[in-house]
Amino acid sequence: MAECLLILGGTAEAVALAHAAAKQFPGLSTVTSLAGVTSRPTPVPGDVRTGGFGGADGLAAYLTGTNISHVIDATHPFAAQIARNAQAACEATGTPRLKLLRPMWQRTPADIWIDVADAAEAAAHLADMTAKSVFLTLGIRDLEPFAALSGAAFVVRLIERPAAPLPIEAQVVTGRGPFCQADERRLMQQHRIDALVTKASGGAATEGKIRAARALRLPVVMLRRPTTPPGDTAPDVAAALRWLDSRLARAKSTP
Ligand code: NAP
Repeated sequence: MAECLLILGGTAEAVALAHAAAKQFPGLSTVTSLAGVTSRPTPVPGDVRTGGFGGADGLAAYLTGTNISHVIDATHPFAAQIARNAQAACEATGTPRLKLLRPMWQRTPADIWIDVADAAEAAAHLADMTAKSVFLTLGIRDLEPFAALSGAAFVVRLIERPAAPLPIEAQVVTGRGPFCQADERRLMQQHRIDALVTKASGGAATEGKIRAARALRLPVVMLRRPTTPPGDTAPDVAAALRWLDSRLARAKSTP
């Protein structure tokens, strides 16, 4: 049976992987799956499907119903639910799965990082700080806990303008990474930012803000990464392709 790769996407790595897999494995069918969060996703080679599967069972049914032979979960490190669903669905169906997991940012002695569990804890820390202008790069879902804070102005960065009002009063800036250090520094200075709140997403594409905060000696309140489900992981697209290559070779040699 022809091999078919499902890429769980929504990240720059997923886009890069779809391009690289199309180039390296021209005969391989590829489907990129998107949650449907943004209105204009970056085009990718291969098929694209959009929207949830209906939990782990729905994903398992999709895998068998569409003859998916391999899954690479290239979703964001904070997309914990889909990662758990992918692990459970692949285990249930015996589908080889890899988690593409970008490397963590490394703390240096020049960093002022405050490690927190979630947005609520981040907001509680900010209440104790004297920050007047806070840069929030968390996505819409994690803004609510900051609504109770008075005395600080917020700048929120999103990929696109929100369709509905935000749960907090904030100035919205839009942009899709990668973001370089110089631009991040300029943005922080322009808005007189004196604290950054971010997820510990890791990876090079959004490290510019971490480097800029380091250079400006700004505190960074950083939400801890959720736990990764057990199984194979790769730190980048090149390593993911090696995994795929070896899995495809194994499938070919199995009668
Ligand atoms: P999540 O909490 O882990 O997933 C919630 C539900 O959304 C899943 O149970 C699944 O619905 C659906 N879903 C998520 N990713 C999907 C995908 N690639 N294809 C099909 N369905 C998907 O995810 P999230 O944190 O809301 O993130 C949603 C998407 O945004 C992900 O694709 C992720 O890569 C991207 N993203 C997330 C973040 C972040 O900070 N969380 C940042 C950048 C990009 P069903 O249970 O119905 O299958």
